[in-house]
Amino acid sequence: MDKLRTRASSINRALDQIGDKWCLLIIQEVFWGINTFSGMLEATGVSRGVLSNRLKWLQAQDCLRKRVAPGGSRHPVYHLTRKSVDMYQMSLMAVAWEERYFPPPTAGRVHLRHRTCGNVLQPRLRCSTCRKDVHGRDVTYHPGPGATRDVRDKKVRRRSSLSASDVPGEHSVYRNLIDLVGDRWTANVIALAFHGLQRFDEFHQELPVATNILSDRMRFLVQRGVFVTRPYQQRPLRHGYELTAMGWDLFPYFLTLLQWGDRWCDPNGAGRPMCLTHTLCGESLHGEVVCNHCGEELSAHHVDFTIGPGEPA
Ligand SMILES: [Zn+2]
Ligand SMILES: [Zn+2]
Repeated sequence: MDKLRTRASSINRALDQIGDKWCLLIIQEVFWGINTFSGMLEATGVSRGVLSNRLKWLQAQDCLRKRVAPGGSRHPVYHLTRKSVDMYQMSLMAVAWEERYFPPPTAGRVHLRHRTCGNVLQPRLRCSTCRKDVHGRDVTYHPGPGATRDVRDKKVRRRSSLSASDVPGEHSVYRNLIDLVGDRWTANVIALAFHGLQRFDEFHQELPVATNILSDRMRFLVQRGVFVTRPYQQRPLRHGYELTAMGWDLFPYFLTLLQWGDRWCDPNGAGRPMCLTHTLCGESLHGEVVCNHCGEELSAHHVDFTIGPGEPA
């Protein structure tokens, strides 16, 4: 069988459920209020077959619920569940990274207004203990109560990038991030790099997929500016992979992904596979996404958004 054993990780478990570019795009659309089959078809540019396959998958993962539309319309609508609403902080971190590295033309700008304080906000990720911003370099890892090994399906899909024509909608506000994260192995490699891995054989030991698949992902990440290569040995010449500033700045997204995985993807109830420590305060790290004006933690109910040149009314 095509099975793979890797160190248990909430990031991997989360990615095995939702780490597919179409799943991520669909959930993003539902967050923006697009919740019918035809609406999603138009907004994502996906084919009918793939869309219905992913909608079924997301329902089976308890991330979407199908309901008959009010007023007796024949067309059902898809709703977020508690589990997928809980991805809200993750999508804020995705928007923040995308705005920083791939600022969209004004027409595609996302404006977020915090109802609590009335300001247009920038989401920040901070440590809930010391309240300082969290950077990936200030984190250490050690095994948690659920540290074990997971058996995972290989089920390798060919990595395909989102091309401009794939995603026509101005709604697709974090397309570049989805392009990186919407492939399980690529996202796995980024997560491993946060642990300090740099050499190909180190990555391969933790992620024992075929070497051609792994080297394809490494090359892709270099092309996209997430890694730079640097020689670590002269004879024979060997290169390691180092995260760039842009790569390190994916950490807030991954931390919210990990925390979501801790909450929702613990099949045996064994507890967290991995514990994180914030070295700036020495305490167990819990990241919270807050408003840069008032410092309050952000939830979907307290943030209005618009997409476009204007600011939210
Ligand atoms: Zn701290
Ligand atoms: Zn605020």
